[in-house]
Amino acid sequence: MRKPLAATCAALIALGGPAAGQGPAPAPLPFVLKQIGAGVYAAIDGPDHKAGSNAGFVIGDDGVLVVDAFFTPDAARALVGEIRRLTPKPIRYVVNTHYHADHTGGDQVLRDAGAVIIAHRNVRGWVRTNNINLFGDRITPELRARIEALPLPDLVTDQGLTVWLGARRVVVRTVLGHTGGDLVVAVPDAKVLFAGDMLWRKVAPNLIDGSVAEWQAADADFAAIPGAAQTRYVPGHGDVADLKDVEDFRGYLLDVRRLVDEGRKANLKDDALVQAVAPKLRSLHPDWAISDRAVAAEVRYMNAELAGTKQLPVPQPE
Ligand SMILES: [Zn+2]
Repeated sequence: MRKPLAATCAALIALGGPAAGQGPAPAPLPFVLKQIGAGVYAAIDGPDHKAGSNAGFVIGDDGVLVVDAFFTPDAARALVGEIRRLTPKPIRYVVNTHYHADHTGGDQVLRDAGAVIIAHRNVRGWVRTNNINLFGDRITPELRARIEALPLPDLVTDQGLTVWLGARRVVVRTVLGHTGGDLVVAVPDAKVLFAGDMLWRKVAPNLIDGSVAEWQAADADFAAIPGAAQTRYVPGHGDVADLKDVEDFRGYLLDVRRLVDEGRKANLKDDALVQAVAPKLRSLHPDWAISDRAVAAEVRYMNAELAGTKQLPVPQPE
């Protein structure tokens, strides 16, 4: 519940802040907060993509666990503000679903708010380096400096992990497919699975670090969890999803693989391969956002995977 306006104004006046009608209006949130279970919230990136990705959080008996930190510190600060509006309990953890900066860019804000950063063990070796490759020719000096200063995770795992928030159980699992260092977060009592970028809803996924062979298998597993038909799946990009969306996404991955394979068998290469795949993919998934840039990249990465030349992030020694 938001505080009643009168109470908020009274508090501002008491603090010497601007009275109603003066001063700038508060900035709109860069995400839409959606309650998807008792004490479980998805923070879905807004239409102008200011947050950069989705995030979410779980309020337990004695603290809060956050899933992902958005791209910008400002978006992470807005998330902390929303948590503070809902509960005074301490923010104890943030789980990074993977190293990509659109999910880790706000980590320092969460850490400053009290969170221990949990990630797959490979994230420590990649978050300050591979994120620079991720942006390619779109990197700027400012972004490079920000990436090189990202905090390293405090607590890493290459296996499952159970986090207890008092009596509330949160299950962190490793999965294969998107980067080689992915975690998903289940809240069994609420039938929620935060899938990070292992799941995209009606948005073309980024395959740059992915293995589609492993990825589609992991999504088949997501669709087979107990209670799948009642589960709310929070994707890394796109709105809150259900079982049908998980199957739709897996179908999309399989279509990319099949269409690129068919084009390769017809000896199509480079642009000709993209031109052959793009219209077929769009006609199979007419309600998906598939930009020219995204489909060109998907075809290139899928082609490399099928050719056996795909370069994947290399795990670094601890
Ligand atoms: Zn992402």
